[in-house]
Amino acid sequence: MKPMGIQKWNMHKDSKVQKVIAVMSGKGGVGKSLVTSLLATHLNRAGYRVGILDCDLTGPSIPEIFGMEETAKGSEFSLYPNYTDDNIALMSINLLLPNKLDPVIWRGPVLNNILQDFWTKIHWGILDVLLLDLPPGTGDVPLTIYQSFPMDGVIEVSTPSQMASVAVQKAYHMADRLNQNILGEIHNMSYFICDQCEKKHLLFGELPPRDELERLGELPFDPKIGKAVDSGRIEEIHVPEMDPIVERIVDKLHIVKG
Ligand code: ADP
Ligand code: MG
Repeated sequence: MKPMGIQKWNMHKDSKVQKVIAVMSGKGGVGKSLVTSLLATHLNRAGYRVGILDCDLTGPSIPEIFGMEETAKGSEFSLYPNYTDDNIALMSINLLLPNKLDPVIWRGPVLNNILQDFWTKIHWGILDVLLLDLPPGTGDVPLTIYQSFPMDGVIEVSTPSQMASVAVQKAYHMADRLNQNILGEIHNMSYFICDQCEKKHLLFGELPPRDELERLGELPFDPKIGKAVDSGRIEEIHVPEMDPIVERIVDKLHIVKG
């Protein structure tokens, strides 16, 4: 059943975005922002025009992952994203705050106003894919996004240790009840490849598939990835395990290069 009486918001008149994909998780620290960023860099390298909207208003990390420091420009009617070295468009609350270490301590209604400004005022220009990095869990922000942003798909990120946890299942059911098109799950930090023996060591053993959710792929725990993310150099790495994941998503949503 569709929730009644909730209007989807319109984007800025000069934003033409082919597909909007949200990346969500039940818990924090599972690598959601990392996966969002890797989807962006890999789609971008494959020739798609990509943007990321950092919807994690209290724990924004997209600017840091891309080593982006400049403040974004805006007026009363428009907000302009910043562009990375490889031309990925980024917007985050941390590109708008005068002091990046200021905590965001606004309550729900204010957060909702920011989300509305993000959705309706950002001048993205033409994009093939806009990725949304959602905050973890089932709070106000994901609720507003699912209800008010017109979206094409949702991807769930979890680690194998948390796959069966109540929080992960709640986040899945929230998206499902709000009529989202859940494309599947990506397992992060599933295994480790030892540089001595090159064997794939499963960190949590072989996990059964989830009936309700397709597994789009698995990413290794790799200190090189962690280092690149934590030092703002995500655009310098290629993670081969991402390639088939990106292909699946492109196929499922019929994303075309504009
Ligand atoms: P979330 O957005 O879900 O809170 P992040 O993407 O910020 O999580 O990741 C949390 C931390 O874990 C980061 O510091 C990152 O460096 C590390 N990390 C995540 N995934 C991997 C991975 N596959 N290999 C190595 N480190 C990782
Ligand atoms: Mg994050």
